[in-house]
Amino acid sequence: MNNQHSIFHLATAGVQGLVPYQPGKPISELERELGIENIVKLASNENPLGPSEQALDAIQAALPELARYPDGNGFALKNALAEKLAVIPGQITLGNGSNELLELLARTFLSTSSEVVFSRHAFAVYPLVTQAAGATAKIAKAKNHGHDLDAMRALINADTRIVFIANPNNPTGTYLPGRELLDFVQGLPEHVVCVLDEAYYEYVQKQDYPDSLAWLDDCPNLIITRTFSKAYGLAGLRIGYSLSSPEMAGLLNRVCQPFNNNALALVVAEAALKDAQHLQHTLEVNAAGMQQLMQGFTELGLEWIPSVGNFISVDLRRPAEPVYQALLRRGVIVRPVANYQLPNHLRISIGREQENRLFLDALRDVLNDVQ
Ligand SMILES: *Cc1c(COP(=O)(O)O)cnc(C)c1O
Repeated sequence: MNNQHSIFHLATAGVQGLVPYQPGKPISELERELGIENIVKLASNENPLGPSEQALDAIQAALPELARYPDGNGFALKNALAEKLAVIPGQITLGNGSNELLELLARTFLSTSSEVVFSRHAFAVYPLVTQAAGATAKIAKAKNHGHDLDAMRALINADTRIVFIANPNNPTGTYLPGRELLDFVQGLPEHVVCVLDEAYYEYVQKQDYPDSLAWLDDCPNLIITRTFSKAYGLAGLRIGYSLSSPEMAGLLNRVCQPFNNNALALVVAEAALKDAQHLQHTLEVNAAGMQQLMQGFTELGLEWIPSVGNFISVDLRRPAEPVYQALLRRGVIVRPVANYQLPNHLRISIGREQENRLFLDALRDVLNDVQ
């Protein structure tokens, strides 16, 4: 073999067709590029307050045990979650971020003859895990940027194995009310697994947002995924969980790597879960920041997609990429969403008051400069 030899063709067809997930630009990278500090990052829907103090204390306490493998069953965290959510521990699966659960679902239920249904503008990990499994994505048209459940239902056929629904959805921040969603879930054929991705559920303050946990007993094909990455401020630790029937959890457990959750994540998530005050503070800062950004957009004459999450996508009515680049040069990192078929939008994660203000000031300048 020589050095010119390509191994590309050895990869499966699904992998050959993949485009790697593009994460938000890290602060450290922009610091290196620009040689400036005090960068504002509002790009990855992280908690601007950071993790709870109690979570940080729990990390300290756990450090001396790092030579040991973690508890592969996540006994303590599952029990804490079970108690809080009134489910049994056997209904819970822990993942290395909730993204790992999405991947486990794909590995469990998809083959090259399967189809997967999700919405246009839906979370980028759905197409990724679908294609990596060699399955076929069926993408439903959107309704007011959100999920069109009728369009999704129309795409379901005998080969469909998974339907992904993010509620609220990222990057649009749209949500589905309980009644409509329950009708959809109950109407699914038995051979289809419904994945309800609730990465942002803690933020939603709407009367008609569903308590989907209550549906699990009647819907054996339903699985709900949640995460400690967003409202709990632990994105860097990588821990999420799913809620399902014990049977579904048992299947995921078969494909799951032993020790998929690191020891620190397990103890820290448990501590974070108990810090109700930090969560409350997080929600208040988020609600105020959302108002601040909407107000700022109004002053700039811009429209946005109404969001119930910790981020908002604003319509610049022109290609967003140059605006994104110009904001970067001013030390503000936000998220272009052209890869979500929203080329004129930028998604901004809600920050602290000062960060939001710096972003809005920079945006005003940039919109005046970049014509
Ligand atoms: C951020 C996000 C996730 C998961 O993130 P993890 O850090 O892997 O838990 C899942 N779904 C949506 C829609 C998200 O925006």
